[in-house]
Order: sequence, then structure tokens, then C-alpha cells
Amino acid sequence: MPLTDGHGAHHRQLDPNPDPASAGFLAQFGASDESNEAYSPTPRGYQPGRTKYVVVIGTVMSGLGKGIFSSSLAKLLKDKGLTVAPIKMEGYLNIDSGTLNPYRHGEVFVLEDGLETDMDLGTYERVLNQNLSRRNFVTAGQIYTEILERERRGGYLGRDVQMIPHVTGAVKLRLRQLAMTGNDGKPCDVVFVEVGGTAGDYENGFYIEALRELAFEEGPENCCFVALTYILEPSILGEQKSKAAQLGIKRLMEAGVQPQLIACRAKNPVNDKVMQKIAMFSNVPMRRIFSMHDRTSIYSIPDAMREAGLDREILSILELHDRVNTVQEDRERVRWSAYTQRMAAPRAHKARIGVLGKYASLRDAYASIDKAIEHCATELGADAEVEWLDTSDVATLARARELVSRFDGVIVPGGFGMRGVEGKILCVQAARLERVPFLGICLGFQVAVIEHARNVLGWADAHSTEFDPATQRPVISELPDQKKIEGIMGGTMRLGAQDVQIEPGTLASMLYAARPTVRERFRHRYEVDPRMVDALAAGGMVFSGRHPKHPIMQVLELPLSAHPYFVGAQFHPELTSRPLDPQPMFMGLVAAAIARREPEFASTELGRRWVRTATAAGAPVRA
Ligand code: GLN
Repeated sequence: MPLTDGHGAHHRQLDPNPDPASAGFLAQFGASDESNEAYSPTPRGYQPGRTKYVVVIGTVMSGLGKGIFSSSLAKLLKDKGLTVAPIKMEGYLNIDSGTLNPYRHGEVFVLEDGLETDMDLGTYERVLNQNLSRRNFVTAGQIYTEILERERRGGYLGRDVQMIPHVTGAVKLRLRQLAMTGNDGKPCDVVFVEVGGTAGDYENGFYIEALRELAFEEGPENCCFVALTYILEPSILGEQKSKAAQLGIKRLMEAGVQPQLIACRAKNPVNDKVMQKIAMFSNVPMRRIFSMHDRTSIYSIPDAMREAGLDREILSILELHDRVNTVQEDRERVRWSAYTQRMAAPRAHKARIGVLGKYASLRDAYASIDKAIEHCATELGADAEVEWLDTSDVATLARARELVSRFDGVIVPGGFGMRGVEGKILCVQAARLERVPFLGICLGFQVAVIEHARNVLGWADAHSTEFDPATQRPVISELPDQKKIEGIMGGTMRLGAQDVQIEPGTLASMLYAARPTVRERFRHRYEVDPRMVDALAAGGMVFSGRHPKHPIMQVLELPLSAHPYFVGAQFHPELTSRPLDPQPMFMGLVAAAIARREPEFASTELGRRWVRTATAAGAPVRA
């Protein structure tokens, strides 16, 4: 049954989760209906106006912190008691971010449901303190694949398949489905759309067109476009120039999109003259133009936005005032400012952490590790000095010992490929012998197993079959399930959240506050070979976290008699660390690192919770 929303566009009621394969799905929106030019597939039960849309589009250039801006804005609304669901729309043709090189694109972030996404999704999860799923991430590759597969099944019934209305229709359907399900299965108040790239890019043009159509169909009080732009301040002139921003916004207006709010990124606070010019050329009143200049901490951005009144303007544009819960807002503000104050406060302690990986020159490749250390250091009142080192040129144990003992704690992060692996094995050995607190993540966990097999059990040729397929001692080998899907690169790993059963009485159990099972996120193809587990354990390695049903080793550790803090995780603990909820394994590492420099720390309140000592409650006493 067609229904109109008062803006002239036709909606048809569709199933909220239509199966594109079924003829029923197509019948619902009448793909065969030659007269249906609007072609706006809408989920069944969708009510225009129930969910509002905020769309953030960048202009002038990328790299302005669009993700941080959008997530901070979404946080402001979430703090007011509104339910929010962010969605990042990428213009590239990859189906997900799994095959992207972290050196070029930053880390691959893995969601609970196993989707491999852009690192911005990590920013959303951390800032919103909310788990996301595949509904929150879309690429051009996903949209085109869906359409081309439907076309091959004859799903368009004689019509030529076009960018408009079919591709834009598929984009709108995705957004409305998210509106109806939110992140918890219920309709949400606000969908936050972040368009990748900048206005004028070839790749994202169809998203911008789809959003223009969506705004027209939903009505002006239901959609708010925010242009994030950049104010140049060339040092030769010593003043701010608005022209690039004006031209960037014009690009957006040429696409039929009138922004209602403009946020100006800049090095320094944007002056009135510049804002007036932007207001004048973009049809946006001065009160809706904001200076988003550089801050010392990204965590202060939500407060800065609130002070500038950005949230108030959005509420007015979207007529959302009635849905605000001020009690909740006050409570959330207190919690957040306690965190930002702790961040800004002078730190009583210090810890030098070395991250020994492959991509030493680019922090973005390990963004979540960086954040996790920051969350824990803030919680523990410590200044964490983090150094990123490439292990490719570590060739001797002497060199590794010299390197590792410069730090109070070391992390060997996840990775793929042979380069740097032997150097990592030497560094793990050095950390073990020097008793430097150690956290091995994914590949770092696997390397710790190889090191133990080689140097403790004396299996000189022990290796992972990833690096030496012919090894006689395959302590790490391919997961049986993964073998079947060899030859395909994308999406063939063990991905996403899994339960980890924690052995009582272990260090892991102390870290996880005696919880019997925890959920952590995985991204790997290889694992500890189950046939080797007994021998490894006989040599002193404790597997303190396992899959509840299968013989998959997920956490390893050494007893206190052997080492103050030697822990490995087959999963990626950095992915679940949040500012207000720091991840326990990182807490343990940073606390052990502080205690290495300042032994008194162990007897402070935080030290008693996080540092393992012979007398600490719950600490393992076995040798
Ligand atoms: N290369 C290893 C594997 O595939 C580790 C992966 C990782 O560190 N993310 O199992």
C-alpha cells in the first residue's frame, strides 16, 4: 500500500529485514512497476519522523577528524537520553576493510559480529561506549554487490538498473533499516551518518545524492546536514582565509545539499570575519557556524561543542527538545568530566611502554593499542611514554635484551607475514629473561608460544605453519575450519567476539575480577596446535583462557614464580578498551610496568587491585 509522507514522495511498506533473494521482497516495492519512478524502498512499519538523521559531510580535505567530530556530536545527543546509531559510509569498492593494509589505511577494527571495518568505528565505540555491528558500516562494494547479485537473479524484472533510483534506493533502505533497528533492535532517535571522503569526490557522489533524496522524503525537520570544513591559515599570510571553505561548501550545494550547520576545523579559533563570510556564502546564520579549532585532548571536544551550543542547534533543527532527559544528561556530564579532569591532572606515576611491531612509523596502524594504554594510564594516574619499534632488525638476544630492558613493559601486537617475526621471538625471550612485564596480542601470543617451545622445551625448530609450513614442531598451526577456505583472502579468518573461559586462581582470573567467562574479539587464522598443549603446559606455560567447548587456547601466562607479568591473548584486548571501562589485560600490564619502576605502587589501593604479588588476593601461588 503506498503512503505519502506529506512531501510528495511515495513510500511502500516493506519488511524491515527484507531478504533480497526472495521475490516477495521485490514485490513489496514493485520493481516491476514501470510507473514507480520514486523507487524508495522503505522497511515495513517505518514511520517518517520517528527517527531523525544527522549527516556529516567533509569539505576541502580529508583528515580533519570527521570521525571524532561525528562521534562527539553523537555522544552529546546520547548523553541527553536519545538513542543513537552511527553509520559510516565508505566510497571504496572493498566489501569490508579486512584486506586493507594498516600501513596505508590505519588499523582494521573488528566488531562483535566479526565485520572488519575502518578504524573510525573504533572511535565511535569508544566515544559512545556502545558496541556496533555490520549495520553501522557500509561500503560502495557492499551496495554494488547486493545490486549486481539481484540483477543476475532477474530481480529487476526488465528494468535497466541505474545509479538513480536503484543504487540510491539501496542506500536509503540501509539507512531506514538502521533507523528501525538501531543498535539494540529498537527504532532509534537519531541515525548519525558519516560520509567518507569529501564533497566533490567521485566515489561518494551517490551517497550524497541518496542523502539529498532522503532529506527530501523525510522532511526538513527530520534531517540535519552538517558540513565539516577547513579554514586555511597560511604562515606566509599569518591570517585565516575562508575561500577554500566557501568553495568546498559550494560543492555540496551544487549537489543539492544545503547544510544547516557548519563546523570549521582550524588551527586557531576561527575569527568573526571569516565566519561572517562563510555564513553569507552558505546561507547559514552565524549562530550555526562553529569554530572547531585544535584542542590538546580530543576528549574535551564534546564539552567544547556543548559550550558553543552545537547540541542546542541540532535539537532545534530536528525538533528533538521533547525527547531530552536532563537528569541523565547531568549524570553523564559528571561522569565524562571526571574522566577529562583525570586526563588533564598531573600524573603521580610513570611507565615506559615499548610496542614491538612491524609498523613502527605509523601510529594509526595500532590506534586501539595506543588508546587502550591511554585509558589505563589515566585510570592508574600514570604518564605512559609509548615508543613504537620495528623488530625487523633485531637479530641477536643481546640486542633484544638491551632493547627490552629500556622499557617498564612491552607489547608485541598482532600482525601477519614473516617480516620481523624472528626479532619478535627474541624480544619475547628477552622480556621473559629480564622479567619485563609483557603482553602478547594475537601474533604476539603465538610468538610467546613459539619462544616457549624453542627455549624452554628445547624444540629448536618450533614454529608456526604460517611462517614455516614444513616445521616438525608446528606449535601454531592453521585452524581446521580455516583450511577449507584457503585461497580466498577476504573474510576467511576466525573473526569477531567469542567466549573465553577463564581458569580460576590464575592471573587472568585476577585481572577479570574472577569472572568465569568473558567475551573478547578475535581476528586470526592460526592457533595453538591442540596436540602440543600438554607439552607446553608441562614446560610451565599456563593456558588460563580457553574456548568453552573447543580446544582453542585463548589466554596464556607464566606463574608468578617465573615472571611478574607475562600474559598473551589470542584475541585483541585493545578493541574492547573504553575510556570509562579500560581493558583488564592492559590495566595489568600498565600497573606491572609502574610497579617495576616504583615497587611501592603495589601497596597502593590501585596497586593492590592490579599488581600481582605473592600475597595479593586471588593471586596464583603455584610455582
Ligand atoms: N597471523 C596470525 C594469524 O593469522 C596472527 C593474526 C593477528 O595477529 N591478528 O593467526
